[in-house]
Amino acid sequence: MQLYNSESRQKVEFAPLNSAQVTMYCCGPTVYNFAHIGNMRTYIFEDLLGRTIRLRYPLKHVMNVTDVGHLVSDADDGEDKMELGAAREGKSAWDIAKFYETKFFEDYDALHCTRPTVISRATEHIQEMIALVKTLEEKGFTYRTSDGIYYDTSKFARYDALVGRSRLEGLKGGARVEMSDEKKNPTDFALWKFSPKDKQRQMEWDSPWGVGFPGWHVECSAMAMKYLGNTIDIHCGGIDHVSVHHTNEIAQSEAATGQKYVNYWVHGEFLVLRAGKMSKSGGTFVTLQTLRDKGYDPLDYRYLCLTAHYRTQLEFTYESLDSARKSLQTLRKEAVKAAETAQRQQGLITDRLNETKNKFQAAMEDDLNAPKALAIVWETVRGAELNAAEKVEFLKFADGVLSLDLFRVEEIKEEALPAEVEELLQARAAARAAKDYKKSDELRDALRAAGYAVKDTPQGQQVEKI
Ligand code: AMP
Ligand code: ZN
Repeated sequence: MQLYNSESRQKVEFAPLNSAQVTMYCCGPTVYNFAHIGNMRTYIFEDLLGRTIRLRYPLKHVMNVTDVGHLVSDADDGEDKMELGAAREGKSAWDIAKFYETKFFEDYDALHCTRPTVISRATEHIQEMIALVKTLEEKGFTYRTSDGIYYDTSKFARYDALVGRSRLEGLKGGARVEMSDEKKNPTDFALWKFSPKDKQRQMEWDSPWGVGFPGWHVECSAMAMKYLGNTIDIHCGGIDHVSVHHTNEIAQSEAATGQKYVNYWVHGEFLVLRAGKMSKSGGTFVTLQTLRDKGYDPLDYRYLCLTAHYRTQLEFTYESLDSARKSLQTLRKEAVKAAETAQRQQGLITDRLNETKNKFQAAMEDDLNAPKALAIVWETVRGAELNAAEKVEFLKFADGVLSLDLFRVEEIKEEALPAEVEELLQARAAARAAKDYKKSDELRDALRAAGYAVKDTPQGQQVEKI
C-alpha cells in the first residue's frame, strides 16, 4: 500500500510497525456546534483509509472528542469554543458538549463511517495531559507566563518537520503580529491555561501550576500515546492541522518520549464553497441535515466525496450533488439487476473475479485513489468481463470499502410534471397520432420554452428537464 506522507512530502510504501495491529489516530470534532459537510469529508476520507487498511491488517483506530480547550484563535487567545457555545445557547458547557457529540455521531453513522475502536473525550483524560506537561517541564521545554504554561518551540530541533523550514519562517511572521509580550517565540503555544481571574469557567481542573484547563494540542498527544503507544503508524486530519496543531503535537510528543511520534502523516484536502471557505466559526456552513432537508440521502454525499481524490480540493455545489445522487441510484439499479440475474442463471466463479477485486484494491491502495476505484466499479458492472454472479461478488467486495449500500432497492420518486407540461405532452401525443407533424413540432417548441426537452422513442414521448 502506498500513502502520501505529509512529512516526507511524497508517496511512500506503507510498512506498519506491527502487522498484527496497525495503529491510527484521527483528530475528532470540537463539539461546540454542528459539524459541517466539510468536516464530514475528512471523516469519510479517514473511513476509506481505515477500510482499505482492514483489507490487509487488523486496525486500532482512535479518535478524540475535543470537549474543552480549543480556543477561538490559534495564537492561544480568545475564548474556549465550548464556553462560547454555552453562552450562545444558554446551556452549560457540559450539555453543549454532550448534545453536539450525539449529533456528530448521528451524521458519522449516517455517512457509514466506521466507529473508531476507541473514542476518547478530552475532559476524561485531564490527568494524562497534566502528566505529559509535567514531563515536558522536567525536560526543560516549558516556561510560565501570567496566563499559562507554554511550550518553548525554539528548544525543539524538529519543529519544522511538517511544514519545512521556509514555510515555518512565513508562519512565524504571521504569528508575530498576534504574539503576546510574554511569549518567547511566535510559534510557542499553551500547554496549560490558567482560568481567568475575573470570570468563572465552567470547565476547569486543579493542576501543579494552578486551576485551569489543557491546551488543545496537548489533548491529542496525551490521548494518542495513551491508547496507541509512543510511536503511531498513521495520524490523520484535515489539511488545516498541518501547520499548527500537528506540528505542535510532534513537538510535545517527541520532546517527551525522545521517540518518533508518527510514521505516516496523512491529511485530507478541504471541501470548499464557491464563495470560499466553509467554516463553523464564520457561520457559513452546510450540515448533513441541510442536505437531508433538501431530500438528499447522506450516502449521496458520500458518493460525491468518493469522486474526488482526498488530496484535491472539492468544490461543493448542488449540481454535483445531484449528479452524484443520479450516479449512485443508477449504480444501485445495476447491482440489483445483477443480483436478480445471478439468481436466475447459474454463473461459474472464475479467476476473473479475483483479478477485478485485485484491480479495485490496487486502486485504493494507491494512496486511496477512490475515483479510480469507482471507475473500475462502473467498468465492471457495465462490461461483459464478469458474469452476473461474479459481478455480485465483486460489488459486495467493493461495497465493503466504498460503503454505498449498493444493493439497496431504490424507490425513485419521479418528480410530477407541471400540469401545463402534461397538457402539452398530451396534445403532442394526439397531434402525432393524427400525423399532424407541424403541430407536433410547434408543441415541441412550446415544451422547450417551458423548460422541457422531448424525445420520441418506441415507448412514446420521453421528457427531460433542460
Ligand atoms: P474541527 O471540529 O473544527 O476540529 O474539525 C474536524 C475535522 O474537520 C478536522 O480534521 C479538520 O481538519 C476538518 N475540516 C475542517 N474544515 C474542513 C473543510 N472545509 N473540509 C474538510 N475538512 C475540514
Ligand atoms: Zn488533534
